[in-house]
Amino acid sequence: MSDRVRRIAARRIRRSVSGGAVTTAVDGSVVGVWTLGEWASRTTHSTVLPAMLGMITEGGSVRTVWLSKGHLWSCGFPVGVTEVSSATGSTRMRSLSRDPTWREFERTRAGRFAGEAPVRASRYVPQWVRISVTQRDGGRCVYCGESDPRRLELDHRLAYSKGGASDDPDNICLGCVKCNRSKSDSDWGWG
Ligand SMILES: [Zn+2]
Repeated sequence: MSDRVRRIAARRIRRSVSGGAVTTAVDGSVVGVWTLGEWASRTTHSTVLPAMLGMITEGGSVRTVWLSKGHLWSCGFPVGVTEVSSATGSTRMRSLSRDPTWREFERTRAGRFAGEAPVRASRYVPQWVRISVTQRDGGRCVYCGESDPRRLELDHRLAYSKGGASDDPDNICLGCVKCNRSKSDSDWGWG
C-alpha cells in the first residue's frame, strides 16, 4: 500500500443521522452530508470507483478523504483516483465505462461524487449546496413532505435542461423519487 494512502481508523470517524441526512466527520471536520439513500449508493459504488469526499488537516498538512471499499482513507494532496485505487485494491477501473451498474448510476443521479471535477458544466450539485439544502429542507420532500430518506434525492426546481442552476441553493431542493418523476422535466410552479 502506498504510504501516501492511509486507512482512517474508525475511532476518528463520527457519523450522525438527523432529519434524514447522514453527516460524516473525521477528526471533527465534516467531509460529507448526504441522504441515507445517497450514502448507501456511495458505499456500494465506492467498491468500483473511489470517491473523494472532502479534506482534513492532519499533522499540519492538508489531506483528502476518500471513500473506497466501504472505508474512509486519507491521502496526500493532490492525489489521483488511480493512486487510491491501487492502494485500496480496486481493480475494475478499466472496465468502468462498460459496467452496467455504473452507467445506470451515472444516468440516474443528478450529481457526481463530491469533490470530483464535473465532466461538463454542470448538472453536478456542489457539496456546499448539498449541505445547505439538506439542512434547510429538514430531510423532507418539499412537494409532499415524504420523509423516508431512501426515497429522497436532490431536485432541480427549474430543470437543468431548461437552464436551471446547479450551484444555487434556491434552485435545488429535496424531493422524493415519486414527485421528481411526475414533475419530470416540466418546471411547473417555479419561475
Ligand atoms: Zn414528494
